[in-house]
Amino acid sequence: MIVGAGPRGTGLLERIAANAAELYDGGRLDIHLVDPFPPGGGRVWRHEQSPLLWMNSMAEDVTMFTDASVESEGPIRPGPSLAEWSARIRSGELAITGFDGQLDAEARDLTSQSFASRRLQSAYMRWVYEQATAALPPGIAVHLHPHRAVRVTGSREGRQSVWLEGRAEPVTGDLVVLALGHLDAEPDAEQRGLAAFAAEHGLVHLPPEFTADSDLSVLAPGEPVIVRGFGLAFVDLMVLLTEGRGGRYEEDGASGELTYHPSGQEPVLHIGSRRGVPYRSKIGYAWSGERPPLPRYFGPAQVDELLARPGRPDFRREIWPLIAKELGFAHYHELFSAHPERTTLTWPEFDARYAAADPGSAELHALVAAAVPDPADRLDLAALDQPLAGVRFGDFDLLQEGLRHHITADLARRHDPAYSPDLAVFLGLLSVYGQMLRLGDIGEWWHGFFSYVASGPPGPRLRQLLALSKAGVVRFLGADTSVAADPVLGVFRASSPSVPGASVEAQALVEARLPGPTVDRTRDPLLRSLHEQYGEDGAGVTSTQAGLVAVTAEDGRVIDRSGRPHPRRFALGPHTDARSAGAFTRPGTNGPAFRQNDATARALLTFLRAASSCTGCTGALSA
Ligand SMILES: Cc1cc2nc3c(=O)[nH]c(=O)nc-3n(C[C@H](O)[C@H](O)[C@H](O)COP(=O)(O)OP(=O)(O)OC[C@H]3O[C@@H](n4cnc5c(N)ncnc54)[C@H](O)[C@@H]3O)c2cc1C
Repeated sequence: MIVGAGPRGTGLLERIAANAAELYDGGRLDIHLVDPFPPGGGRVWRHEQSPLLWMNSMAEDVTMFTDASVESEGPIRPGPSLAEWSARIRSGELAITGFDGQLDAEARDLTSQSFASRRLQSAYMRWVYEQATAALPPGIAVHLHPHRAVRVTGSREGRQSVWLEGRAEPVTGDLVVLALGHLDAEPDAEQRGLAAFAAEHGLVHLPPEFTADSDLSVLAPGEPVIVRGFGLAFVDLMVLLTEGRGGRYEEDGASGELTYHPSGQEPVLHIGSRRGVPYRSKIGYAWSGERPPLPRYFGPAQVDELLARPGRPDFRREIWPLIAKELGFAHYHELFSAHPERTTLTWPEFDARYAAADPGSAELHALVAAAVPDPADRLDLAALDQPLAGVRFGDFDLLQEGLRHHITADLARRHDPAYSPDLAVFLGLLSVYGQMLRLGDIGEWWHGFFSYVASGPPGPRLRQLLALSKAGVVRFLGADTSVAADPVLGVFRASSPSVPGASVEAQALVEARLPGPTVDRTRDPLLRSLHEQYGEDGAGVTSTQAGLVAVTAEDGRVIDRSGRPHPRRFALGPHTDARSAGAFTRPGTNGPAFRQNDATARALLTFLRAASSCTGCTGALSA
């Protein structure tokens, strides 16, 4: 039984199909796929959502199919990326049924560098699901259960039962896979306090949740709204409250600049966060030339060494220096290879001296200062991370100008191949991410930093943000924004050290971020019951410090309450401590999600083969 039919559940099915010929004996096998949302896209990538919401990845960077780069035991089964799939539709090679006119037009116009709508990705995921089920051998059947699973029971040695909402009888089978994905959570103490304050004073408070599922009608036209969080949830919010309420953009033919024409239905969004700036723009050009040979300073050997030390490695002291050195290596390798005229040493000389210098040391600073004359060509991770640190503005109007300047400069730089070391740092971040997976849930800060630098919004979204800022629909609050509940006036008040002494009052507060992973406070009934499960069949789950479900690195078996891998329960995806990059795989990158799906699929099939060689058993993921 697979609970969760989103990208992970679908990817697992694809791997079951790929490995069945080798590992399954041809007997009957029934796979039960449980999800209230349609298979393929699942909840995040369902068709039923605003067509204005986009993916955050370029179409060429999204694939659900393995390629030669994937180091898996199971066979490689190539297939099209989202961009290639759209090209096949365009060429007439593929006809997709059930497309509306809008999707059809989008698929036909999509380029490799486009950011597809979530609805188009939904159609791709549906097609991937159909391909995966069609590739299953004749004895294997998939049964859909469009219900929420609320409980799983069954002993370590026996069959498992998955109980469905509104159904008296469970679905039973030999094995369970929890591909539950991104989950809703009960509010924490701070959020409960803010919600109670809002209820007491008749204010609006939207806690962390899926923006696409939020009831935004409570945010009234023209009213100020304080928004906390400048990541991708903010971008969704911004889109739904502006174009989603009838506003439109006009592009100046000569400069390409956008002007926003409000509909009058928009609230005024006062947006703040810890950094006070939006995530860095997606890089708008492709790699060319020699890739930095990564990993160099943070690879398997360094991870082995960290894991061999007693206790949990300390992120700041033991891991970050290795990451900083790796990112610096990627950056300078590209600067010296692609733009040698902006350096004063030869690469071999710089490389040797860089290798000898400790990260953050005076020696390293002196080397870089001597070898790279223009400060804009040096990698300054602190400034990249916190561009507003120590910057003060006289009033909010000056801050608006300052931020527009920052965003314009970021957009320009991230679309200019003259700054290709930025793209090398991006590759460095991907490489580091792969290594960090082996260290489990260490370094929550790192995940935020990665998202901010490597997983920011598409350039066009930042151009829209600039236009909204000029139109006064979006107002920036500054860095280290704090929000206080004012019991005297009965309002929320936001302030930031970026504009000393100033503040903004509002009757609405939106937390623009997804709920963090938490087994303790999850709203998912199935996971909650597993968290609470004790006793004879109550193997339960172990939660890590970061609130993730602990699983084995080899094949994703759930670690039960006693610390033992459960023989019949598996979990895959962002709610586990084996979470892969938390995103779709880019082609040619040996994506960890593929390797994990493959290992789990093989473990399932191997178990089932052994089970079916017993007395006349029928299939085992089965009812
Ligand atoms: C809003 C949003 C936008 C994103 N955009 C991008 C992007 O542009 N590019 C990118 O690479 N990544 C993006 N991601 C990252 C995301 O991690 C992956 O795209 C992908 O959705 C993860 O797949 P999953 O199957 O693990 O989880 P999910 O997509 O969350 O799927 C899990 C499924 O499990 C089901 N489920 C959960 N609990 C139960 C239960 N008790 N019973 C039955 N079913 C259950 C849910 O209904 C859901 O369908 C985005 C994530 C979010 C949340």
